[in-house]
Amino acid sequence: MIAAAYAVLDLDAFQHNLAKVRGCAPGARVMAVVKANGYGHGVLRIAEALQDADAFAVARVDEGIRLRKAGISNRIAVLEGFTCAEEVDDLLAYQLEPLLHSSSQLAILEDRKEREALTAWLKIDTGMNRLGFKAKDFSAVYERLKNCAIVRQPVNLMTHLASADDKNDNMTLKQISLFNETVAAFPGQRSIANSAGILSWRESLADWVRPGVMLYGISPFPDSTGQELGLKPVMSLHSRLIAVKPVLEGETVGYGGSWMCRKSTTLGVVAIGYGDGYPRYAKTGTPVLVNGKRVPLIGRVSMDMITVDLATQPDAKPGDAVTLWGEGLAVEEIARCADTIPYTLVCGITPRVQIIEGVPVHKDN
Ligand SMILES: *Cc1c(COP(=O)(O)O)cnc(C)c1O
Repeated sequence: MIAAAYAVLDLDAFQHNLAKVRGCAPGARVMAVVKANGYGHGVLRIAEALQDADAFAVARVDEGIRLRKAGISNRIAVLEGFTCAEEVDDLLAYQLEPLLHSSSQLAILEDRKEREALTAWLKIDTGMNRLGFKAKDFSAVYERLKNCAIVRQPVNLMTHLASADDKNDNMTLKQISLFNETVAAFPGQRSIANSAGILSWRESLADWVRPGVMLYGISPFPDSTGQELGLKPVMSLHSRLIAVKPVLEGETVGYGGSWMCRKSTTLGVVAIGYGDGYPRYAKTGTPVLVNGKRVPLIGRVSMDMITVDLATQPDAKPGDAVTLWGEGLAVEEIARCADTIPYTLVCGITPRVQIIEGVPVHKDN
């Protein structure tokens, strides 16, 4: 029995999207970003589908441990690094590669006696102002790290772009030049590019690229869809109609009565809501596919249900197939209708949504 709300993953789309990354960044190694449960897609499945990646990146130590316990043997970088000595024990035990971004991390490493046991990535803050050492402190930090017995030399070098999704923002080129100037005299593999860098800033490619959202078939840019960029969506989110009924002129629908019926129509109730990760702020008019055809969402999204106007599909019936995004309906479009970015939609899928690989089976049809 399939859950009422389910997400189908097209794992072949991954291979296609990974090939696209390799085509954009020939010769670069690929660190596939699978943080936040593989952007909501289910990290273990994703890691198995992406075995060809040269490394994975997760945000946290616990995410890396989860991959290792599942038998994943690729290199794994931990983008937020560690904050205490116990986490360093975990990094060693599970062979995870932390980002180093603060002096307190260096102090913890300087206390360790193990020899060349830890592969690390030194993070330079070139303007994002989140994690990383400032460029002016880089050479001092690099020297300190050279004297850390536990760290394998040479350390890898990384920075992160703040505005690469805006093709007109010259901040990106400034960040890239600052990074390149800062590390010029030092050995070590370099990594700059996220998806937006890979797709639109050749200067950012370097030794390693770090695609996240594009691997899932989603555009990092606000003005395009993954499909327009030659990517294929991995996740399609589905549910079904559970009630179909007339609604009369003058009646309102849903909480707050925010939608008022101006002309009698047929209302469809779909078994999905914000309790599944469908965005609470999706506006009236947000497209929903019923039996493959677009109809508008009406009224407020509730926890377990949404309502749609079936004026164009008066013959629709309970059990009919509904698609909320994915194949045939870009998640980027839904994100725009909900004043958010597609990252939050796929990441926000809740455990109630059953994740399935391959082609969906509509049991009720
Ligand atoms: C999340 C993340 C990425 C991937 O970003 P996308 O926009 O999803 O491609 C790359 N690098 C770092 C440091 C990140 O935190």
